[in-house]
Amino acid sequence: MNSEGGYVVSGASRGIGREIVRQLTRSGARVFGGVRDPAAAAAADLDEFSERIEYLPLDVSDGDSARRFASILQHRNTKLLGLVNNAGILPEQSPGQGVEDEIEAMREALETNTFGALRLTRLLAPMMSAGGCVVNVSSGMGQLADMNSGYSAYRVSKTALNAITKILAEEYGARGIKVNSVCPGWVRTDMGGASAPRSVEQGADTIVWLLQQGARAPGGKFLRDRQEIPW
Ligand code: NDP
Repeated sequence: MNSEGGYVVSGASRGIGREIVRQLTRSGARVFGGVRDPAAAAAADLDEFSERIEYLPLDVSDGDSARRFASILQHRNTKLLGLVNNAGILPEQSPGQGVEDEIEAMREALETNTFGALRLTRLLAPMMSAGGCVVNVSSGMGQLADMNSGYSAYRVSKTALNAITKILAEEYGARGIKVNSVCPGWVRTDMGGASAPRSVEQGADTIVWLLQQGARAPGGKFLRDRQEIPW
């Protein structure tokens, strides 16, 4: 039994997720990293805070995997202070692709970026109490106020994720749990590529800041650089 509070970060193996883990553990927090390959994530994790991070198997697009992940934490009586739905994919799409390929790419993006976040939140919210924070890592590419062409699968998955943020913020707000979307900006990771202007430290900043606000955090907002942005 482990009654110590902790945070869950999905997609903790690399990129922004790994940096969120680094910042949280450095501040003294305990973190459960949901990863598809825990042994590889642990082997790559050589820093001095490694005793505060535990990697557990999680594929957010797979209901059985997510239920197993949640039941491990439940059996330990874990109190969750926060959840970061960070795991995400950017499916390849070409301008001339057929509509069936476009729909298939959209289905793939929705499975991970949208349903994965909904699934994990529903499974883990019962382990959170007032002041708990859920952060959905979204994207400016899902912003209706600034919608553009290309990458239709990714864009739609993040717009839908933002809708889920609003719905869950209403539902869990009554229990004092805050649910928000964050755009990390364009960040140098495997997904963002080498030309992106932001470091992973900058990309993780607003996410970690929100988690640390606890009960003072806003709810049902879309944020970038610690400021509210339009949906
Ligand atoms: P990366 O491609 O560097 O990392 C993606 C992470 O998600 C990896 O840890 C990967 O795990 C994990 N992942 C993917 N699918 C699954 C799954 N089904 N189950 C569990 N884990 C999974 O991406 P970033 O770090 O750049 O992106 C993190 C988040 O930030 C994403 O949600 C992305 O959409 C968002 N974002 C990123 C931007 C950027 O410029 N980089 C801009 C705006 C938003 P594995 O190692 O097993 O593949």
